Amino acid sequence: MQVIESVKEMQTVAMQLRFGGHLIGLVPTMGNLHDGHVSLIKQANEKSDKVIVTIFVNPKQFGPNEDFEEYPRTWQDDLKKCEDNGVDIIFHPSVQAMFPKDFSSYLNEEAVSSVMCGISRPTHFKGVTTVCLKLFNLVRPDFSFFGQKDAQQCAVIKKMVRDLNIPTEIKVGETIREPDGLALSSRNQYLSKLQREDATSISKALNKAKELADSGIGNTDRIIAEIIHLLSQKRRIRIIYVKVVDKDTMQAVKTISQNQTIACVAVWVDDVRLIDNIVF
Ligand code: AMP
Repeated sequence: MQVIESVKEMQTVAMQLRFGGHLIGLVPTMGNLHDGHVSLIKQANEKSDKVIVTIFVNPKQFGPNEDFEEYPRTWQDDLKKCEDNGVDIIFHPSVQAMFPKDFSSYLNEEAVSSVMCGISRPTHFKGVTTVCLKLFNLVRPDFSFFGQKDAQQCAVIKKMVRDLNIPTEIKVGETIREPDGLALSSRNQYLSKLQREDATSISKALNKAKELADSGIGNTDRIIAEIIHLLSQKRRIRIIYVKVVDKDTMQAVKTISQNQTIACVAVWVDDVRLIDNIVF
């Protein structure tokens, strides 16, 4: 396994791989790898013959009062997980290498990004699309792997790839969860024991919503009311949003369509911001 820090070297090595006829799979991450990331790496290994994992805590996707400084950085562990799971290259650039002081070109997706997390984190998706476009340009991957856990991110990236004719195929991997249902996230480790207990109500509420939908309730107002009701019973939880939306446009829908509608939740568990979703 090769570790590349230089942007120029990444571009050269990726070009050589491509000219060598290899199919390249890209897994962009911010490190602190867990089983959610590993499942994407495994899917990348199945689809492609060279897997590139990027580990880059992207400052541009954090708001001014968010957790960029505290975000867990676990380089040695990440290195081992990548090695154990057949990663060919880790791209691990510095902030300075990706965003030099005079950096001034950003990409804004204006529709899918404008709702939900786009409202509560107004600069977030601009940071995500900008860094992903840079990674796509550097690596030119045949396939790029993202997690359903970040459903809006998947939709924004897919839209940007379509709008801008970026030659990569976006693959979405299912959400990997703890045994009690909590979606794996690097931010889970900020939770105290009591906060962690309350956090399980997120997936429970989403599962209940799916149960209602499966039992024939197609009215999304009814579904949203149930999710809000269940989350409201936990005293550490403050709801940021509960939405039932189309999984491609992220626009609210009134009735559920199988495999096309998702329920999305963002909450504060005291001072820890968590998101999750379920596909109906
Ligand atoms: P992050 O390092 O949090 O930016 O995540 C990197 C990639 O892993 C993103 O595409 C995420 O959607 C994905 N991911 C994060 N958590 C999970 C999870 N629990 N299950 C599946 N994929 C995940």
